Amino acid sequence: MSVTIGIHPSVARIVPPERLESELSDAVPDAAIRVLDGGGDGGRDATVDPASVGDSLDVVASFGYEEWFLDAGLEWIHVVRAGHDEFPVDALRERGIALTNSSGIHGAPVGETVLGYMLQFAHGLHRYRTDQADREWNPRPWSESFTLEGERVCVVGLGTLGRGIARRADALGMSVAGVRRTPAPVDHVEERYSPENLREAVADARFVVLAVPLNPATEGLFGAEELAAMPEDAYLVNVARGPVADQSAVVDALRSESIAGAALDVTDPEPLPEDSPLWGMENVVVTPHASAADEAFPERVADIVGENARRLETGESLANQVV
Ligand code: NAD
Repeated sequence: MSVTIGIHPSVARIVPPERLESELSDAVPDAAIRVLDGGGDGGRDATVDPASVGDSLDVVASFGYEEWFLDAGLEWIHVVRAGHDEFPVDALRERGIALTNSSGIHGAPVGETVLGYMLQFAHGLHRYRTDQADREWNPRPWSESFTLEGERVCVVGLGTLGRGIARRADALGMSVAGVRRTPAPVDHVEERYSPENLREAVADARFVVLAVPLNPATEGLFGAEELAAMPEDAYLVNVARGPVADQSAVVDALRSESIAGAALDVTDPEPLPEDSPLWGMENVVVTPHASAADEAFPERVADIVGENARRLETGESLANQVV
């Protein structure tokens, strides 16, 4: 196999480029693999000077998008994350450049993290952690805690993330509802709603979890009306993308206590600005787009790229293909 793979230094946002290089070397032993030079210190925000790339690359594995990808003679771009919302799918399609993403590997880490958010709110653990930082022994009234067992979670989007969350919530004895575009049954999901019935779906949920891709149909999907449809003792969890929820409406709902709290792994913009009111709210947990973190991640990405490199050779259609 003679495919040439360039690793864009932006992958450093989630994995050291050299670690991905090493995993890819194992997964695709015949490929020529190199980390592209990000200039200066490289690193997570690095860009690559196209003049340094030459014309020999077949594939780029990248976190971020750069304009030169369109004119570098690439056959295929692999995005090392599930969302590909920054990538210009129409332009790539026109140029005949395939785009694949890393969807399918985040169900376990994100599923477990979402369970963590829910357990934290149910048992007040986030508040005790804050008390601990202040060296305060401050038991809360028992009436402020509840168990997840028997509570209802509504998962919006039942792809890899949504199913990973549903399976784990079901295992804890929660009642699981889901919002999806087609009515077909999904394991571990008792009740399904169409996106048109989103407000009805969240009306009796203790937790609402956003797990849809960001696209024109989902931008602002969860706004003031959807928040108002949630019960006052309910929590919002966003592990999708910041703009899927209307963040200022979320702040309003939290301030007016029309919802009980929120766990936000993704924000709009990212990083969350220092002056955002969300940082200071006791009933808000902000994590820095970290719910998918998993030490096995480079290996899992390498498996997808390795399988697709093989398919590229044999002319089979690629796995996880977006374009
Ligand atoms: P996926 O493609 O496996 O699943 C997405 C699901 O959402 C699909 O089933 C799709 O049909 C459904 N969907 C699309 N529009 C919808 C709508 N309007 N209403 C209901 N369902 C809709 O992707 P995934 O791996 O589950 O990831 C989903 C998104 O989550 C990604 O696109 C990415 O933006 C985000 N994500 C975030 C993290 C993180 O670290 N926080 C990690 C992975 C993915």
